[in-house]
Amino acid sequence: MLAFTYQTLPQRVLFGPGRIASLREEVERLGTRRALVLSTPGKRALAEDAARRLGPLAAGILARAVMHVPIEIAREGREEARRLEADCYVAIGGGTTIGLAKAIALETGMPIVAIPTTYSGSEATPVQGLTEGGVKRTVREAKLMPRTVIYDPELTLALPPAVAGPSGVNAIAHCVEAFYAADANPITSLMAEEGIRALGESLPVVVARPDDLAARAQALYGAWLAGTALGTVGMALHHKLCHTLGGTFNLPHAETHTLILPQAAAYNRAAAPAAMARIARALGASDAPAALFDLASRLGAEMRLATFGLREADLERAADLAIESPYPNPAPVTRAGVRALLQDAWHGRRPGD
Ligand code: NAD
Repeated sequence: MLAFTYQTLPQRVLFGPGRIASLREEVERLGTRRALVLSTPGKRALAEDAARRLGPLAAGILARAVMHVPIEIAREGREEARRLEADCYVAIGGGTTIGLAKAIALETGMPIVAIPTTYSGSEATPVQGLTEGGVKRTVREAKLMPRTVIYDPELTLALPPAVAGPSGVNAIAHCVEAFYAADANPITSLMAEEGIRALGESLPVVVARPDDLAARAQALYGAWLAGTALGTVGMALHHKLCHTLGGTFNLPHAETHTLILPQAAAYNRAAAPAAMARIARALGASDAPAALFDLASRLGAEMRLATFGLREADLERAADLAIESPYPNPAPVTRAGVRALLQDAWHGRRPGD
């Protein structure tokens, strides 16, 4: 029998080529006057461009965001926001940059304007990851939800295929787990299926023809749906594993998601048949885990965990951590099962072969 709870999250979304031109107007619309513009060190030029567009509304730039938000960087960001008396944060970049904005907002409650340039989905969630003492913890608070998101596919044209592919599969992972989330509902499942379809169709084009703006827009649309699903419902074993591997072993976020996803889907294949059927349908395939593996391989992604410097012995610790306070999951989460999953990921085995 159909029964569910569905909580929508308030957010204003602007989507389309050239929409970054509305940045100043959007900051004014929030009633804020002193925007702190955030980016990673490597993408400072994006922050400078945003600050130029903001004119007198730009209070300063902090190009210090670091993947998985180490607590030291979060503290530095909070200090800079206080020093500049910032009343809003403009995060331009991927999940790393948006993560820093959330780390600051967690303390101050000031609004975030997110301008995502990857497909991580962080801009559509009230969730914040912080890494302290080698362990990544997440918090979920309404004030962390970016108030405004500007999706401008032109900003993603510079995203290299080697980054765009895994980033897109990271978004697909949100969709996959949204189907079998403990609090799944029909609306997020619609978004998830459409998100996988949009990403599955567009990512091979993005990688083959990086200057194809229509494909970039389609991928960003899929990422929005994926992020919205991620923000609305809880996640399962796959995300737990990726948090563990990312936070504790400092593995790259999207790349880890990409190689774990087919293995995590295979783990849940028998326990979540309806989800698997919808994933396969969205990808135009018959077996979801194999189709996820094939899509990622076609995008040129690295499918072996071993390549990222993780030693086989590390898999023991990773399995121990992953089963500590496990997320709800369709298939029972066992130490032996997770250890076997990690072994398959370490070798990069195609599910079903
Ligand atoms: P990222 O932000 O580190 O970006 C990945 C790479 O893309 C970087 O090298 C960056 O320089 C490059 N890049 C970004 N925009 C570019 C552009 N326009 N042109 C060229 N290169 C560009 O990585 P990510 O995968 O987007 O985000 C990962 C982080 O986000 C992790 O810390 C993860 O935990 C977090 N995250 C959080 C949530 C959430 O809901 N809280 C969701 C997803 C990811």
